[in-house]
Order: sequence, then structure tokens, then C-alpha cells
Amino acid sequence: MTDLVLALDFGGTKIAAALVDPSGSVVRTARVPTPTSDPWPAVESLIRSVVADAPVVGAAVPGAAVSGGTVADAAGAAAAGTAVPGAAVTDAAVAGATVVGVGIASAGPVDAVRGTVSPINVPSWQAFPLRDSVAALFPGVPVELAGDGVCMALGEHHRGAGRGSRFMVGLVVSTGVGGGLVLDGRPFGGRTGNAGHIGHIVVEPDGEPCSCGGRGCVETVAGGPRMVAWARHKGWQAPPDADAAVLAASALAGDEIPLAAFERAGQAVGMAIAGAAAVCDLEAAVIGGGVAQAGELLFEPVRRALKVHAGLSYLDGLEVRAAELGGQAGLVGAAALVRMG
Ligand SMILES: [Zn+2]
Repeated sequence: MTDLVLALDFGGTKIAAALVDPSGSVVRTARVPTPTSDPWPAVESLIRSVVADAPVVGAAVPGAAVSGGTVADAAGAAAAGTAVPGAAVTDAAVAGATVVGVGIASAGPVDAVRGTVSPINVPSWQAFPLRDSVAALFPGVPVELAGDGVCMALGEHHRGAGRGSRFMVGLVVSTGVGGGLVLDGRPFGGRTGNAGHIGHIVVEPDGEPCSCGGRGCVETVAGGPRMVAWARHKGWQAPPDADAAVLAASALAGDEIPLAAFERAGQAVGMAIAGAAAVCDLEAAVIGGGVAQAGELLFEPVRRALKVHAGLSYLDGLEVRAAELGGQAGLVGAAALVRMG
């Protein structure tokens, strides 16, 4: 019988859930947009739809509201027939399997000690008890919670571009710039679970205000919307809905302002990686996210910045790699939290 872990990746724009097998492969997954109001009903519904007919080890705990031994039953009849757009189901992999734990990746800040989350983009959740709310659906099963940056890094370490690197940072360069650390082969959340927020390293002391309340963070230079805004300010002509992908296309076409935007973003990311690597004695940085889809437009200036700023001898072998798992990294990492105990 296959042991499966339910992984949940709660983000500011989408919520994903998956069943992950012991090798780290996603055998069933589904996702929904994050509602602007209280997201909990959507989270619960998504969990029901993904777990569906997979029995849950520990579900037969006395007093638990479980009939039939599945979370779908426990969560109520409303789950029946819930169809989630985009669900990719491999029922053969789930038949006869059991859910042995739940791993949660959440947009932060998180409080990994208390199990609460306060995602910046979800104002209705302030210190929301996400871990305990999910645990109530899975009596008797271990439930782990970490920040989404930590889970991305752990996922890439486990199954992606970070394989074989025991000391690494993972970065998601997207709307914002997130990150997480794997140190000595283990996820490192620090005191409250928020270590590795590399997007909030200051690279411009007199820079733009940041979502964190600070100023001049990497995110204010390398976040996709910030890059687009900077390019427009410099005179880049583009449609009102142009995003980082449009900016990348213009840069590839040789347009100087978008090229400068990527140069500047890569410099900022490279400087932050150099600083983190010096502090944590890292061997690799794995970069994913929408802005990183631009490939060498971003990676080339990142590597150049490292040549300038990562000068200490123990950083000679520091590698920068493109992430391999895309949007699944957080899910794979969340599942690994449980597998690693
Ligand atoms: Zn910041």
C-alpha cells in the first residue's frame, strides 16, 4: 500500500493541493484562485476534492467526525462530486493508497511555532490558525507547516535543481521575491519559520518603498511589476497590461530600457545571493518564478554580480541554477516536510 502525503500550497493568488508519493512525485493535484474574502472554505473544498477516495491513516480516532475513513466523508457530504477545474487525477496511483501526513506551504509571514499564517496579500487572515484548521480534518495524522519559500527550496533540493546541494537558497522571483534556505540538507526556518526571506535584503539604501514596510529591498528592483514600472518610468512604451513576460520579449528584441530593467534586477538578485551565501556558506542558489522564465536575461547579470560580490574563497564554487519544478516545488517541499519529520 502506498503512503501518500497531502501537500497544500497556500499563495496570495492561488491555492494548490496535491497527493505526493514517497518518491516525491505528485500523483494527483488541483488548484483554485485564492478568494479575496475568507479563503478557508476554498481550502477545505480543495482538500476534499484532492483527497477524495484516499483513506487516511489515523482517521479512525475515537470521537473524530469520520465515517468511512476518508477526509471527504469527514468534511461532509458537500464534498461529493466536487470537481475542481484543472484537476489532474491519476486514480491508479491513489487506489489502495493511504494519506499518512499533511504538509502545508503558506505565503508569509508565518508563525511555524503556533501554526498560524498572516499572508500579506490576504488581509482577512491575520494569525489564521491554518495548521490546526487543517489538522482538524485529519485526526491522528501529523501536520507540518512552513513558509512557501522554505518549501520551494526544500522541493528543489529534494527533486529539482538543488539535488545534491546540502547548503542552498531557493528564490522565487515573481510578483514579489521570496526565498528559503536548506542548510545541511534540512529546511531552515529559523526562530519563527521565516528565515530565508532573501527578497528583503536591502540593495538600494535610498530605494523605493517595499511591501515589507522597508525600502530598497531586492523585491523593489526585481519583482515583476516593479521592473515593468521602472521601465515605464524610463520611457518604455508598452500596453497598459504589459507584464514581466512582455518586458522580457522586448528585451530579447533588443529594446534597451527592458534590457536595463533585467540587468538591474539580475544585479540586485546576485548581490542578495552573494550576501546570503557569505553568511550561510552556501554552495548553490536555485532561482524560479515568473521573472526567472526570462532565462539568461536574468541569470547572466546574476552571475556577473556574483563574480563581483561573492569574492570570499569559500564561495568559489557557488552555483546559480534555474529551478526545475516550476509551480510544483512548494507542493513537493511541503510533502518533504512530513517525510523528513
Ligand atoms: Zn522588503
